[in-house]
Amino acid sequence: EALANQIAAGEVVERPASCVKELVENSLDAEARHIGVTLEDGGITRIQVQDDGVGMDADDLLLATARHATSKIRQPRDLTRIQTLGFRGEALASIAAVARVRMASRPHASELGMQVEVAASQLVSGPRPVGMPPGTVVDVRDLFYNTPARLKYLRTVQTEQARCLEVLQRAALARPDVAFRCETGGRVLWQTSGDGNPLSVMAALFGAGEAKQLLHATRRTADYAVEAWIGRPTQARSTRAHGHLFVNRRPIRNLAIHQAVASAFGQRLMTGRHPVYVLYLEMDPALVDVNVHPHKAEVRFSEERDLAALVQRVVRQALDEAFL
Ligand code: ADP
Ligand code: MG
Repeated sequence: EALANQIAAGEVVERPASCVKELVENSLDAEARHIGVTLEDGGITRIQVQDDGVGMDADDLLLATARHATSKIRQPRDLTRIQTLGFRGEALASIAAVARVRMASRPHASELGMQVEVAASQLVSGPRPVGMPPGTVVDVRDLFYNTPARLKYLRTVQTEQARCLEVLQRAALARPDVAFRCETGGRVLWQTSGDGNPLSVMAALFGAGEAKQLLHATRRTADYAVEAWIGRPTQARSTRAHGHLFVNRRPIRNLAIHQAVASAFGQRLMTGRHPVYVLYLEMDPALVDVNVHPHKAEVRFSEERDLAALVQRVVRQALDEAFL
């Protein structure tokens, strides 16, 4: 059973960044308005995610770290219309199989929180009452301490931290209505206000000066709503990582859309340079297949060519208007 947990864990928790992603998705699923993330050593020694979401009672807390204990699928038909980000009930159990996890949670209606500690899938302490504000704190320490082979495959602290920050930036951009705070080494790296304005998230993440230069474009068709903030050619970067795509408020990767943006720049982009953009697409969920990849970052669109052509037109028009 312990081994089965460790094997399953490998599919969900590859590295600190995947852990951060799962924990933040849980906070969002719990309808948190504020999410604070603390990283130590790129998340390898510690990842703490604190939220003010709905919380869990003692039973849920114990269940949460058991495999396939999701509270998010009540009926089989729920599987076809997944609204929440997590639905497999594996993330917390997988993390708890390969780390020391302290979880404390307080539903809003309760006076006190409850806390459990789990290490390598074993309950170490609790549940016992703790004083805490409503919400949930998940504290993950010493990731892969019991699976040295996996620990060995981690990259440097800087690389792991960069990946964690990328996940957090994408989450903050996806949800401008949620206030995110990101800390490491006792220092706040950035925080967003949760005011719902994507541009204020961009100002928090990229700097006010960079954000102010972005071109803004919106378009609505029968099937799609597009809202884009596009970096000027002078803001282009040397990697693709500065192109951000969100579909129905979820961070997504899709090569066709990225290429559509890049091709809209055409000659305006120097060779080897990649556009900076934050692109929000809204559409009927039936037009998106999220199950292409188990981690759900990669999606397929049922009308991919039409969508790519639309994105290309929107971006090209914004550039043309700015540079005519
Ligand atoms: P899933 O998200 O797929 O349901 P997880 O392993 O990520 O599975 O979480 C298991 C369960 O623990 C969730 O279904 C939810 O009930 C509960 N849970 C996890 N994190 C939180 C949180 N931050 N706030 C409230 N409940 C949570
Ligand atoms: Mg989850």
